[in-house]
Amino acid sequence: MRVLVVEDEKKTASFVRKALQAEGFAVDACHNGDDALAAAKSTPFDIIVLDIMLPGRDGLSVLRQLRERRDATPILLLSARGEVNERVEGLNAGADDYLPKPFELAELVARVRALGRRGGDNKSPVLRVADLTLDTLTRRAQRGGAEIELTAREYRLLEFLMRSAGRLCGRMMILEKVWDYDFDPGTNLVDVYVRRLREKIDARFEPKLLHTVRGAGYLLKAQP
Ligand code: CA
Repeated sequence: MRVLVVEDEKKTASFVRKALQAEGFAVDACHNGDDALAAAKSTPFDIIVLDIMLPGRDGLSVLRQLRERRDATPILLLSARGEVNERVEGLNAGADDYLPKPFELAELVARVRALGRRGGDNKSPVLRVADLTLDTLTRRAQRGGAEIELTAREYRLLEFLMRSAGRLCGRMMILEKVWDYDFDPGTNLVDVYVRRLREKIDARFEPKLLHTVRGAGYLLKAQP
């Protein structure tokens, strides 16, 4: 499950991100409304945690904009104490739930999880590329019916590649989405993990699914 956290207070954003990551969510964060709209356009999120008070375009405007472009991603609004009108306005504008600040992290996690379940009703939790499947609820990977054991990081890498199936994934993008790095550590970390993953999902099977695009990155696809 991939969550977008939109909150300009860096400290709160960081707490929320860490709490959700500890529960197994993949988390992207942005700190203003325009970045949030851009992120939601380029990445399919399962849930968006959206603070109302943001610099520039506020959370309600982001919410309206998303719904206007028919983006139905479940949204949990965060509102400061006293923003009762905004809260009501938010629910009317298509938010799925709200949480007044200050909140307990455990409650936030519980609500995000509940929204994820609701959103999952019409979406299959199982990602599939050819005969490779990844169940994002049980975190089980199988190919040709055979169980594939993955470490937590390999799971995140495979989930990201499968959600991006058919699209080129550059090393920097992978570092950002799978390791949460926003800098290049200057190592071959990604290549090492891709090699390990390939050993598990491709070595004993045909056709090969995980392709190297020389100098550019990687691509998960049934046909090269
Ligand atoms: Ca704020």
